[in-house]
Amino acid sequence: MDFELTSEQQMYQRAVRDFCAAELKPFAGAVDESGEMRWEAIHKMPALGLTGLQVPEAYGGAGLDTMGMVIATEELGWACGSTALSLAAHNGLCCGPISRWGTPAQQEQYLPTLTSGRVLGSLALTEPGAGSDLAGGVQTKARRTADGWVINGQKAWITNPRFAPVIVTLVRTDAEAGTRGFSMLLVEPGTTGLTVHPPEKKMGLKGSPTQMLTFEDVVVPHDAVLGEEGRGFQQTMQTLDGGRIGIGALSVGLARAAFEEAVRYAQQRRAFGKPISDHQAIQWMIADAAMEIEAARMLVYRAAWMKDQGQDYAKMAAMGKLKATEVAEKVCHNAIQIHGSYGYSREYPVERMYRDQRLMTIGEGTSEIQRLVIARHVLREFGGV
Ligand SMILES: Cc1cc2nc3c(=O)[nH]c(=O)nc-3n(C[C@H](O)[C@H](O)[C@H](O)COP(=O)(O)OP(=O)(O)OC[C@H]3O[C@@H](n4cnc5c(N)ncnc54)[C@H](O)[C@@H]3O)c2cc1C
Repeated sequence: MDFELTSEQQMYQRAVRDFCAAELKPFAGAVDESGEMRWEAIHKMPALGLTGLQVPEAYGGAGLDTMGMVIATEELGWACGSTALSLAAHNGLCCGPISRWGTPAQQEQYLPTLTSGRVLGSLALTEPGAGSDLAGGVQTKARRTADGWVINGQKAWITNPRFAPVIVTLVRTDAEAGTRGFSMLLVEPGTTGLTVHPPEKKMGLKGSPTQMLTFEDVVVPHDAVLGEEGRGFQQTMQTLDGGRIGIGALSVGLARAAFEEAVRYAQQRRAFGKPISDHQAIQWMIADAAMEIEAARMLVYRAAWMKDQGQDYAKMAAMGKLKATEVAEKVCHNAIQIHGSYGYSREYPVERMYRDQRLMTIGEGTSEIQRLVIARHVLREFGGV
């Protein structure tokens, strides 16, 4: 693997960074306080491909590879956690599966709208009783009738449904068929019987809406199945493998943002007659953060590179997500420590970053699940099953 970004990748990174510095970062505090996205910025994102990172250009996307997605997502995470999470869900969890498995008609129907910068898409897997154990826990069912699929059930903790033209929804279409009994259905909010509940009141990422959905005899056409019937569970696992690379990149960005705040503050704040950055204990925190952010970024890059090479990247994606999310947690924690009382105040952005990063070790597979994934791969490599 080449650890230098190509000149094209560097140019794209610079363009996205400049955009994020101007359009997102100065407003991240206001997004958190108001709980509202800055749509003015999102409307401008198609010019940089940010609303369709890996969607083919024919549908208004940037047609980037995974490395390109990672480069952009790190910058979004650096600028604004809420916006970055909603964009990661939109790109990785909604546009991704439709680009990958959608029929030409489904792609034609949804992708141009999804990349327009006027909406954000959604993927609904989680339910009140099913998060890590989707195979065992998902209760939402779709029954085939002459009129189409009739869906009943509930989804919980879903990002973006209030902005979505389509919600990719995991349902059981055959209760007897185990993991082959799941399908993904393309459901439009506004369909009779679908209730999109008000956003949850959360600890962080307050600008990114997280909502419950109730399906009561919601009817969608037979051709609303994404790709093939019975493939929903495999599609989910593959989508999450890719999504984890995105959450890893987002977490590297969040960590970098908190790190920069901490270093700047340490150079200004004085204690015992000198800047606190001259005290060795502070230097250790700075050194550890610099090293860990770089290590996390390298793992995320490696996972992206492996995916782009067509290699089996599931273990590396889990490693990248686990490392980057745990690094973000530690770096944000220490950034507050370095700020002292000021870090505990809403006046300083590290307080928001600390709250925003907390989701990252939970969403798209908890740290415990990442460790299970990694261990399973390692044990298999050593001859186990
Ligand atoms: C802000 C936010 C946005 C979200 N966005 C979306 C979205 O867009 N779409 C979507 O579908 N979901 C979304 N989610 C849901 C998220 O993906 C789930 O919360 C996550 O997968 C964990 O599921 P759970 O909360 O049900 O926890 P559980 O599965 O109940 O886990 C609880 C605890 O038990 C541990 N645990 C579970 N099983 C094991 C095991 N086998 N071994 C060891 N430990 C285990 C977990 O690691 C965790 O610590 C979002 C959640 C939040 C908070």
